[in-house]
Amino acid sequence: MPTYPEQCGNGPVLPAMVRMFCVETRVVLRCEKQGVVFYQFTMLGNNGLFSHGIFSRRGGVSRPPWHSLNVGRTVGDDAAAVQTNHQRIYNTLNLPAAHRATARQVGGAQVACVTEEDAGYIFPATDALVTNVPGVPLVMRFADCLPIVLYDRVQGVAGLVHAGWKGTVRRIVQAAVQTMTRKYGCLPANIRAGIGPGIGPCCYEVGADVIRLVRQELPYPRLLESRAHGHAHLDLWEANRVLLAETGVTQIELAGLCTACHTDEWFSHRREHGRTGRFAVVIALEQR
Ligand SMILES: [Zn+2]
Repeated sequence: MPTYPEQCGNGPVLPAMVRMFCVETRVVLRCEKQGVVFYQFTMLGNNGLFSHGIFSRRGGVSRPPWHSLNVGRTVGDDAAAVQTNHQRIYNTLNLPAAHRATARQVGGAQVACVTEEDAGYIFPATDALVTNVPGVPLVMRFADCLPIVLYDRVQGVAGLVHAGWKGTVRRIVQAAVQTMTRKYGCLPANIRAGIGPGIGPCCYEVGADVIRLVRQELPYPRLLESRAHGHAHLDLWEANRVLLAETGVTQIELAGLCTACHTDEWFSHRREHGRTGRFAVVIALEQR
């Protein structure tokens, strides 16, 4: 069945079959399809080669405190509800749920290269997934930690990174970019990076141990803003932007959306005192 392109806001072209309501914010499109709210980076687009969705917490079936589009299976939510939510996110992007590859996220620096054989697999202790295989969606779960989406259209390679403070000081996003360049032949200049919603410098207060590690591993004074009692606010967004720039990636978009400021839209582990869900980020190279 043929599809015809249709302009979605001022952003990327979407297939006419996918009826969506979109509102453009600064660098992301906010889209809604059958009640499921998700975002897309305008720079990464939806060009028939690559698709992605940064899913909000809206449009699922989970009850409070996981309301409603929770995809975390280890946060105490009802397993059947989580399964329904998973199906909804793949249906929204018309992706094959059974082929997805994912990881147990631990805040480390391990990158996995996802092949065709990994469809359906869960990588242990991994915080970045990279692939050049169309039709194998990559998914991760978030609630304050930063999702970072990487895409090189020239080589046809995509990556998804989970970066909390631990992964950030371990330079996980740089490990992912280096995997793209060394194993897949990508040039940093061709890699587009979208830094998604996560806890912002407005809300992310950290203590002495984190401050010491950040100063030691990431010597950029602007990443920490001092507060009372020896605490500071950490800017994870800027830290990961700097790490990307260090690798030579220049095409970087920062969503600038703070999960802790907007718990109506996102799950926030910090703001909701650990009693909350996880939102999904899904990326996929499209099968031609
Ligand atoms: Zn905030």
